[in-house]
Amino acid sequence: MSRIIYVNGRYQPYHNAAVHAEDRGFQFADSVYEVIEVLSGKLVDAPRHLDRLERSLSELSMAAPVGRAALLAIIAETLKRNRVTNGIVYIQVTRGSGPRDFAFPPAATPPTLVVIARRQSQDKIAATAQTGIKVITRPDIRWGRCDIKTVMLLPACLAKHDAHEAGANDVWFYDRDGVITEGASANAWIVTERGAAVTRPLCHALLGGITRRTLIDAIAAEGVAFEERAFTRDEALRAREAFITSATNTVMPVIEIDGHQIGDGRPGPLTRQLRTRFHHFADIQTPFV
Ligand code: PMP
Repeated sequence: MSRIIYVNGRYQPYHNAAVHAEDRGFQFADSVYEVIEVLSGKLVDAPRHLDRLERSLSELSMAAPVGRAALLAIIAETLKRNRVTNGIVYIQVTRGSGPRDFAFPPAATPPTLVVIARRQSQDKIAATAQTGIKVITRPDIRWGRCDIKTVMLLPACLAKHDAHEAGANDVWFYDRDGVITEGASANAWIVTERGAAVTRPLCHALLGGITRRTLIDAIAAEGVAFEERAFTRDEALRAREAFITSATNTVMPVIEIDGHQIGDGRPGPLTRQLRTRFHHFADIQTPFV
């Protein structure tokens, strides 16, 4: 089946799906994005993702390319044309294109909008969750507004490359104080000796993950202890359990950090419980308007 990508008003075959060579996303990473999980043809937590997209745009004084209803219609059509029922939808907006100039282009410059739908095998993710993943830690060399979901992902690419080379699956970043900020493309969590789930409070240093947000609801409803506080790499190495949250993986157990086994080296019971329960607390809706 040939894949179709939405680019600026047109559904294009994969190989022709292009933006302008002077697109500001390409030249300056002047661009934001979202990734939403698609489950049985429905969007997981779309309202929260679209709220965050609007926030990212507004923090960068960037115009929304289309209204929310139109965006949902484009998402629905892109999913349909690609026959994606389980996977993800990727939405990217840039400040548009124009002759290379650091200052913003004229206000009337149309933003660029790209929507891509991709299948993901639920079985494959479930199989990974059965064994858990290994992470390495790296210094957080990213910029001061990681709360905005921009495509400035080079530090994450470099760090994930290191992880790949080291035979690990992912990366956790730590700041100058040795405090874990987040994963390269996920939020970082540990479980303490007394069984409390711990994740760092939101600030400019990390992305307010939507999976993180919904998991906090799940944790409250399940009566699990929760501590929203900073934790160091050292504390993480001694944690009973560890996991990451993201739209692509929901709750994914971490069984090793920098070669140190976490717990007994297998996905922990609380992590497994939260992974099983997560979708009960998510807002799962058909993207029809
Ligand atoms: N932090 C970073 C740096 C990310 O890239 C992501 C995934 N986009 C997350 C956290 C998790 O966010 P979400 O749960 O909304 O996918």
